Amino acid sequence: MTPDVHRLTAALQDSGVAGVTISWADNNGIPRSRTVPVAALPRVAEVGVGVTSLFAVFDSADAITFAHSDLGTPSGDVRLLPVLEKLVPLAGQPALAWAPGRQLAADGGPWPYDQRAVLERQVDALAADGLTALVGYEMEFGVYLDDDAEPPAPAHAGPAYSPHALVAIDDFVTDVLRDCVANGLELGQLHAEYGPAQMELSLAATDPVTAADNQLLARQTLRVAAKRHGLRLTFAPLPATTVAGNGWHIHTSVWRGDENLLAGGPGPEGAAYIAGLLRDLPAVAAVTAPSQGSLARLRPGYFAGAYGFWGVENREAPLRYVPGSAFLGSGNANVELKTSDASANPYLSLAAVLAAGRAGMAEQLELPEPVQSDPGTWSAEDRAARGIAALPTTAEDQEAALTASPRVTDALGPELLGAFLAVRRSDAGSAAHRELDAVLADLRWRY
Ligand code: GLU
Ligand code: MG
Repeated sequence: MTPDVHRLTAALQDSGVAGVTISWADNNGIPRSRTVPVAALPRVAEVGVGVTSLFAVFDSADAITFAHSDLGTPSGDVRLLPVLEKLVPLAGQPALAWAPGRQLAADGGPWPYDQRAVLERQVDALAADGLTALVGYEMEFGVYLDDDAEPPAPAHAGPAYSPHALVAIDDFVTDVLRDCVANGLELGQLHAEYGPAQMELSLAATDPVTAADNQLLARQTLRVAAKRHGLRLTFAPLPATTVAGNGWHIHTSVWRGDENLLAGGPGPEGAAYIAGLLRDLPAVAAVTAPSQGSLARLRPGYFAGAYGFWGVENREAPLRYVPGSAFLGSGNANVELKTSDASANPYLSLAAVLAAGRAGMAEQLELPEPVQSDPGTWSAEDRAARGIAALPTTAEDQEAALTASPRVTDALGPELLGAFLAVRRSDAGSAAHRELDAVLADLRWRY
């Protein structure tokens, strides 16, 4: 239910909030925002603030590509409106409240480039089939000292998954735990990850739109807590060629009422959902892991999901099926997409995932046998015999995969697809004649 905006504004003013930051993610997964004084909230909630329509064609370096003809000139404005139901005062920034934004056309009608609306359409399409989805994000990131050292200095030295690693950044960890709760984020868990500097935080499963909103809010919360302790975070998929990649894995389950269709091994409908994801995996990955950094992260043997297959609890699989059990309950069953990272727009990612899975269910696709080892260690003949191929590793191949999937392109819609591809080409063009390490260094702090 939408809160009464006048009452909400008064409550924010009473608690000392001065401004509301309205945030969305662009087609590079980069958060963008506008901040308005709190007194303007009632009017802004009604008509929004003006922002350029060109944000849809910003590339990862903030260059604007005019290659998408519908947004081919500097003219045009859209309205950015805060989603009041999701507005939260920020624990780490007491003068600010935060809300995810919706983008509307200048006349207040729908704007086809609004990524949040793309996801809402998929949620509605699932609902029309009598289905709901639950989505949880696992977010890996690197924690570094906030100075200009190059290479940046890791704020913890490991060991991997060790409490000893986190002792070095204890005050930061404490604030993350407190601020996430205060900002309404339910955490799954938090730990030191694989390499020096790396950590992981998981968000509890929610409805898809909330999951994408929360993923943005979690970044804001984490960054602010880090800054307070002299730390700097990288969410980039591969901060440098020498360090561990940061996956932002997406866990989904599909439900009919209170029945989790991913439970039971999975059952036939859950299997068809996974089969739909598997069929469209190259196209889905072009949305969920779309940047130059994403492509560099997809190295075989690094648990990032480099080959197209599914497995049961197989950590090298881009689609890792996690069964429920009598011990954990059937609600626990889900499928994890590992080929996903912070350079994806979370709304578009979840829309692509749900569209692919829903189509699999609608067509009652058959799921092949799971693969329980790492096909990267097999011979090319063995992979071919099982129909397993590497996922695209260039922007060009990703574009071909994406445009070959009517399910995923329909989910995005022709306008957004055009802008998205123009941005990908712009990024690829800028990276073409540069060393990979230089490209990765430029993306390191952007997400
Ligand atoms: N860091 C790995 C990645 O790039 C994932 C490791 C894990 O499975 O947690 O996705
Ligand atoms: Mg992990």
